[in-house]
Amino acid sequence: MPVVTYRVTLIPGDGIGPELADAAVTVLEATGIAFVWERVEAGEAMLERHGTPLPDEVLESIRRNRVALKGPITTPVGGGFRSVNVTLRQALDLYANLRPARSIPGVDSRYQDVDLVIVRENTEDLYGGIEHMVGTDAAESIKIITRHASMRIARYAFEYAVKNGRRKVTAVHKANIMKLSDGLFLECCRTVAQDYEGRVEFEDRIVDNMCMQLVQKPELYDVLVLPNLYGDIVSDLAAGLVGGLGVAPGANIGTQAAVFEPVHGSAPKYAGMDIADPTALILSGALMLRHLGEVDAADRVEGATRGVISDGTARPRDLGGTAGTREFARVIADRVAGATVPAAG
Ligand code: NAD
Repeated sequence: MPVVTYRVTLIPGDGIGPELADAAVTVLEATGIAFVWERVEAGEAMLERHGTPLPDEVLESIRRNRVALKGPITTPVGGGFRSVNVTLRQALDLYANLRPARSIPGVDSRYQDVDLVIVRENTEDLYGGIEHMVGTDAAESIKIITRHASMRIARYAFEYAVKNGRRKVTAVHKANIMKLSDGLFLECCRTVAQDYEGRVEFEDRIVDNMCMQLVQKPELYDVLVLPNLYGDIVSDLAAGLVGGLGVAPGANIGTQAAVFEPVHGSAPKYAGMDIADPTALILSGALMLRHLGEVDAADRVEGATRGVISDGTARPRDLGGTAGTREFARVIADRVAGATVPAAG
């Protein structure tokens, strides 16, 4: 039988990104699947060397390989360059941002039974970066919502629900105030929902009410579909329900390419200290395996990661343990490979 080798673009990112990328590679290679990692750099260091934080070779590499694993990249607040993350998603038309939030037994959190999937529109809304000063004392940001982008993200959410045996899609909006833009988003979700009647339930919630409901009764919700900004905020909230940003994976999916990255950022204060939690990037790697059709390997990576945390064999600091980034990844990798894992002392 021919052995499949996957060429994957690896963008380690900055801050805690490079050490998390090493950890994720260790675990993914333990599946026995052959990877060729095409390592490319983006972010502030590239700005100094290449005059842009996102050199062409990064986009070319992803276009060629059609799949990338990415660590977080710092975005300067206020001035400085435009977010590399946002530019990447827009340039490759990675229109669906998928962010599952599922409880891990044993992780300290308010709930033990959360199982949410956030589907965030990833290309428009207030992320177009269309803003300007109006005189010196006012600023204007323009929110763009189109029928095209809203229809395809709604379609993605319902298709995801069908393929993954999920029961309900909830559209989240603020159409009571933004009657045209969010109104259009909601109208598109309602239109798409009609095609799935009898197969997937549909309902909608105003975003502020949604936040309160998620905090009080997350078990009532299943797949959520949201415009870009609400999706960004609500997915952090959902991460908080299952143990924090350290364990929240994500995927940016388009028709031509897909980039897998954690929900969290570059956490600069922990950079280079071997204490950051690699779980989110490892689980993003499992989403990548699933996307590649390597379902068995994806199940093994998810099972080993969740298992090591749940039974307390090893835990990083954000989950109340003492394991360093490298040690934690090694314990998971050993379990993925089927080796016996000694209990952590
Ligand atoms: P952050 O996610 O980096 O950090 C928020 C909090 O969570 C901090 O307390 C941090 O220490 C902790 N945290 C995050 N990930 C962790 C991990 N793996 N292990 C342990 N603790 C972890 O968010 P921020 O501070 O708002 O952003 C820092 C930088 O990251 C900013 O420049 C921001 O623009 C960027 N960012 C990038 C991405 C991306 O690359 N996709 C996403 C979000 C933020």
